[in-house]
Amino acid sequence: MKWAVISTWKMSFAGNVKAAKMLAEGGNCGDAIIEGVSMVEDDPGYSSVGYSGLPDRDGRVTLDGGYMDGDTLKVGSVGCIEGFRSPVRIARSLADKEFNNFLVGAGAEEYAEANGFEKRNNLTEGSYQRYLQEKDKIKELNSYDGHDTVVFVGRDVSGTVCTAVSTSGLFMKEHGRVGDSPIPGCGFYADSLIGGAGATGVGEDANRGTVSYRAINKLKEGKTAMQAAQETIDEIMERIENCRHMSIIVLDKDGNYGVATNCAFPFVYASDECEPTLYLATRENGKTSIRQIRPEEWSKD
Ligand code: ASP
Repeated sequence: MKWAVISTWKMSFAGNVKAAKMLAEGGNCGDAIIEGVSMVEDDPGYSSVGYSGLPDRDGRVTLDGGYMDGDTLKVGSVGCIEGFRSPVRIARSLADKEFNNFLVGAGAEEYAEANGFEKRNNLTEGSYQRYLQEKDKIKELNSYDGHDTVVFVGRDVSGTVCTAVSTSGLFMKEHGRVGDSPIPGCGFYADSLIGGAGATGVGEDANRGTVSYRAINKLKEGKTAMQAAQETIDEIMERIENCRHMSIIVLDKDGNYGVATNCAFPFVYASDECEPTLYLATRENGKTSIRQIRPEEWSKD
């Protein structure tokens, strides 16, 4: 394959189309996937990323983002950042710095402001109403109620592999929580010599399994992208008691994808051999089953 891009959840479809177009025109992998992730960050229709993201227990929308360049292994991340439009763009800029590549909270906000990143109040009327409805029921909340993360892994025509991620994390998380998404090796990883990977699901479990790096290591051992994804999910389900929802996307250095999940998980894949296509992955009899679906078949993100 000349180029390829895979992204999590149906909400990434329009961004995947955009990233695929950029890659087809010979664009740089980092630029293409950042564009894809940003489109989701900007869309108020999706409640778990960026604008209109899920509030924490204090009613504040704090965001996590990460970016990794697989040529250089440079990595940048922000955690628990509030009041900015695009955590993933801030994360990417941090990847180019020699030190201070991962900033959180007030420090991340000071950096973003000093470097001219666009500010935005991501707590919309919709996300605030959702917070008001749930805040008294906090003890009954299932940890998986409604949170999802957007992850893009791409490979461009020059063979560069990059991964980018953005999320508001768990709904009603404690203020200050940072999940797996901005943590290299857990929420995302990329190495152009091997491939890239990213996770969505309950961050506390993804961190325990360092799932993205685990999948990359399997690719390095010679496993296919599908085997790498499946074995990663199987292992963490075996090792982590009551492992909660978890899905992983993998792209090998040649652009072949692998996906595995323990829940119902839509994802989008495109390459120079395949138009952006929406698939649904599910776990059946202990293995991931994947089928193409029409957008109307999936009503959620
Ligand atoms: N991994 C994210 C977190 O725990 C949530 C998700 O992907 O659904 O913050």
